[in-house]
Amino acid sequence: MCMSDREYDVIIIGGGPAGYSAGIYTTRAMLKTLLIESNTVLSQLMLTDDIENYPGSPEKIKGFELIDNFKKQAGYFGLEIHEGFVEKIKQIDTEKRKWCIITQNKSEYIAESLIAATGAKARKLEVIGEDDLRGKGVSYCAVCDGAFFKNQNVVVVGGGDTAIQEAIFLTRYASKVTVIHRRNRLRAEKLLQQQAFKNNKIDFIWDSTVEKIEGENKVENIRLKNVKTKSNTDFKCNGIFIFVGFTPNTDYIKKIVNTDDSGWIITDNKMNTNRPGIFAAGDLRADTYRQIATAVGDGVTAALSCEKYISKIRGTEYI
Ligand code: NAP
Repeated sequence: MCMSDREYDVIIIGGGPAGYSAGIYTTRAMLKTLLIESNTVLSQLMLTDDIENYPGSPEKIKGFELIDNFKKQAGYFGLEIHEGFVEKIKQIDTEKRKWCIITQNKSEYIAESLIAATGAKARKLEVIGEDDLRGKGVSYCAVCDGAFFKNQNVVVVGGGDTAIQEAIFLTRYASKVTVIHRRNRLRAEKLLQQQAFKNNKIDFIWDSTVEKIEGENKVENIRLKNVKTKSNTDFKCNGIFIFVGFTPNTDYIKKIVNTDDSGWIITDNKMNTNRPGIFAAGDLRADTYRQIATAVGDGVTAALSCEKYISKIRGTEYI
């Protein structure tokens, strides 16, 4: 049973570029749509400073400004937005294929179709000291915490786009940013690499992993291991920013739809999951490029597929 009179055609879960783009399209298709977004699990875009690769935006734009633009545009077409952390989804009426969405504070909503767009969260290194010193020098967000490290010595762990973009951002505050990467070359896009290599505040330590984070109440030292020579060294620093990839925010849905072994949702190229009526869009999908522009494309595709699905079950399809 779902004790709710809050019934929608479509519910979108997640307030990032994929979710809002889907919302713009479903509301324009005159589908009564609710978007549920969490204020604890923020879109990665909210945690991003300058964006310069979003097509159609020749000027740099801040992540929160872009989200605000998406939100305004969706609101203009009538997207309803509620705050909440979705905990569970259950099917309530197999024949009519309705879904009940239950949030952490026990609010319930009903929808004919769902678009999951809850993205991903930063992966941890899982080393000693990481949890104890979180917020005391261990961070996963340069935009949130960078300013605490004015004229200090910080390290960034990782070699992907996020690590290098955030290392460059941190040079605004830190006196020195040392990128620690487990290989001897970067995964990040070439333009970011070029910017980092010519920034004289950025150093690199190659072929190394972080084994341990140490300090009395704040980060003071990290223990590094050279993966080739197997030797350990200590590195003094005031902060460590960890950007070693993401894990999907799919706990609430991973028992309902097919995912891969790591929990990323499997879809076809129309954003259909294996469950009719449930679509997935953006960073939580398996095997995708995780860019703002690709998330927007996914959101639009999911919305169009969702509109088709609803007209089909209602017998109003335009063939
Ligand atoms: P990513 O591309 O998965 O890179 C993660 C990095 O962390 C890799 O260099 C990886 O090393 C390293 N790593 C993973 N586990 C590690 C461990 N346990 N210890 C040490 N190092 C570890 O993740 P991302 O950089 O966060 O990017 C995620 C997605 O978002 C990508 O698709 C990316 O293109 C996209 N993104 C795009 C932009 C942009 O367009 N400007 C910005 C941010 C993110 P290996 O290289 O050895 O695997």
